[in-house]
Amino acid sequence: MLVMSLIAAFAATAAHAANGPEIDAKRLSQDVKVLSSDEFEGRGPNTAGEVKTVAYLIEQFKAAGLQPGGDLVKGKRAWTQDVPLGRFEIKGPVKLTVSDGKTVQELKQGDDLAVRAAMNGAKLVDFKNAPLVFVGYGVTAPERKWDDFKGQDLKGKLAVVLINDPDFETGEGDFGGKAMTYYGRWTYKYEEMARRGALGTIIVHETAPASYGWNTVKNSNTNVMYDIVRKKPSEAHAPMEAWIQRDLAVDLFKRGGLDFEALKKQAQTRDFKPAELKGVTLSANYAVDAQVITSKNVVARMVGAKKPNETVIYSGHWDHLGIGLPDAKGDKIYNGAIDNGTGIAALLELARAYGKAPAPARSVVFLAVTAEEKGLLGSEYYSANPVYPLATTVGVINMDALSPTGPTRNFTISGSAKLDLLDQLIAKAKQYNLAYTPDPLPEAGHFFRSDHFPFAKRGVPAISYGSGNDLVDGGLDAGRKAEEAYTTNNYHQPSDEWSADWSFTGMQHDLGMLYSLGRDLAESKDWPNWSKDAEFRAARDASAAKRK
Ligand SMILES: [Zn+2]
Repeated sequence: MLVMSLIAAFAATAAHAANGPEIDAKRLSQDVKVLSSDEFEGRGPNTAGEVKTVAYLIEQFKAAGLQPGGDLVKGKRAWTQDVPLGRFEIKGPVKLTVSDGKTVQELKQGDDLAVRAAMNGAKLVDFKNAPLVFVGYGVTAPERKWDDFKGQDLKGKLAVVLINDPDFETGEGDFGGKAMTYYGRWTYKYEEMARRGALGTIIVHETAPASYGWNTVKNSNTNVMYDIVRKKPSEAHAPMEAWIQRDLAVDLFKRGGLDFEALKKQAQTRDFKPAELKGVTLSANYAVDAQVITSKNVVARMVGAKKPNETVIYSGHWDHLGIGLPDAKGDKIYNGAIDNGTGIAALLELARAYGKAPAPARSVVFLAVTAEEKGLLGSEYYSANPVYPLATTVGVINMDALSPTGPTRNFTISGSAKLDLLDQLIAKAKQYNLAYTPDPLPEAGHFFRSDHFPFAKRGVPAISYGSGNDLVDGGLDAGRKAEEAYTTNNYHQPSDEWSADWSFTGMQHDLGMLYSLGRDLAESKDWPNWSKDAEFRAARDASAAKRK
């Protein structure tokens, strides 16, 4: 085994020396080792660990010969972009009651409903007897000629909505079949109801279409919430955002004279019309504590020689979970070596490779974002407040949790999507003997859960690159075993730590390919786009005039 992997490692190194940039496996290992050391305290935003991480990244980008590419401070670019984050926490009891006109029933936070701390700026959420309206999947998709609302007014009302998209159950239809479109994601449901001025969104939890159980819903909604600081937070968040247990929802439908299962069937068709749960109302009262913390994105830039205003972005998140609850061994530091020490090491090594080469025609930005673990917030902030215009951002190649072991015969991306950038990646990877393996679980919506996504939803062609699992040494069997072992033993645990056994030769090989892909984009005149039926195509086409 050892001999085999050494041969593979030498083969990969030799191929690079001949025709590619110099990507060094030892430097990758060193960067991951430093970033995930206990000294960096698990890289929590707004901690001493952030200060060390940001300083290390700036030092490395400087040494690579790049320019600062962040905020303009007194006419000069800084190395960072300030990212103000709102921190929201429910204080005191959450009082929830439901009435059907005859009886008033108390509901329990976390057990019956999982209510998030309000992020619309309100210090108190307090309303009485708000009507409930079922809006099906809550989808407005003009490109698919689909509208679940049919003019329904939601002001002062709570919208009850299904999770996933209208063709999840049948497996075929206008929304990618089993695969989840963005219309299926809970973030979309919250955003759409806020746009429509609803008093709140209540998502009916069902395990299969959500792809996780109630415990996940409960744990991720009843704790401290974070959001970017927004100019008009009420445009992004309705006062109430919550999930409800399915059986309780079915019962409330019944008391309101409705049949949940029959309505769900109707919701899978274009003819669906919203239905009020007659006589059923909800009252709520809970206080919210809101604070602002500041974190930083690190932005390094290689200025384009001919078209500096056109930008290719490589990105990855520098943050991890910081210091938290101890594991069985008493370790409290969530080092995040793989998640995402590897992606940041990759970003630094790509920056070094660019720094040694002449500037391409277009600019290349290396963006290390914060607060991914708090909900993609550093990338959301950059996308909402772009340092370089999104309309002339050619594409985004994000890297998150790469594999530090040996080379593979394949690669993947997070989730499924149809765009030219993926076609270009597939073609480039072929030259490097890497075959594309699509996400085996497209219904889980992984496309919407990585830092490329805030760019994608604003129309910028964007993907998250993922390491393959078909190891040159050991094949799929060994690759899958390693993936499983990581998920079970290390993912989001204090044991996600650097190991001297990692060869980093797989990343070395893949990064040669990603360098070449980015370089092509940066030398090209082309503007890759989304496929005609992709839900982000309209957003990209809206700014087409700026790319002439
Ligand atoms: Zn993570």
